[in-house]
Amino acid sequence: MSKGKHIIIDIGHARGTGARGNGMEEHARCEQIAGHLANRLRADGYAVTVLDYPDSTNSADLVATVKAANGISRAAFGISLHMDAASKVVGYVESIDEDGEPCKQPIIEEDPAPHGAHICYVSNTGKRMAEAIAKWLCTLLPGRASDTVKRGDLYILKNTRAPWVLVECGFITTPEDAVTEPQQIAECIAAGVRHYFEEVAA
Ligand SMILES: [Zn+2]
Repeated sequence: MSKGKHIIIDIGHARGTGARGNGMEEHARCEQIAGHLANRLRADGYAVTVLDYPDSTNSADLVATVKAANGISRAAFGISLHMDAASKVVGYVESIDEDGEPCKQPIIEEDPAPHGAHICYVSNTGKRMAEAIAKWLCTLLPGRASDTVKRGDLYILKNTRAPWVLVECGFITTPEDAVTEPQQIAECIAAGVRHYFEEVAA
């Protein structure tokens, strides 16, 4: 039953501190996805708390998010929203290093080639939720070698008490991913959440 289950949505990063590409900025885009996702989940009967510290720094945002999340008792799940970015070395310029020696500095530009969503987890419950979300989201945004990946190194996954997933909603640096409607992305994540509670965890 979905009724009364409490889901936390975390908008990744503070405003202006995440990835950029195709004229977009990670926090702004995740804020749009979060708005649609919260509406959909509430319409489906879930209780939803959205955590967002837009005027913070990245590290303060993480600390505040974990503190607030761990203060919510009986949270069924947490979902952090992010977007990937890819860059590549496109050439080199002659430069002088700190010892005064000539050296080559790489020229780094956005790499529009990598595309697709993927979902990070650390716990076994998180893995099942990640796979449920991937079933829809990675159909909308395919392209990654692995739809889900275990990440023991991510602060948000390591420090939150509730089961948690971090969703990379495609590449902000890739035009096709970047123009995908936030509402469509939110609908896919919500379909995964419903699938998880009604089929996987039922
Ligand atoms: Zn991010």
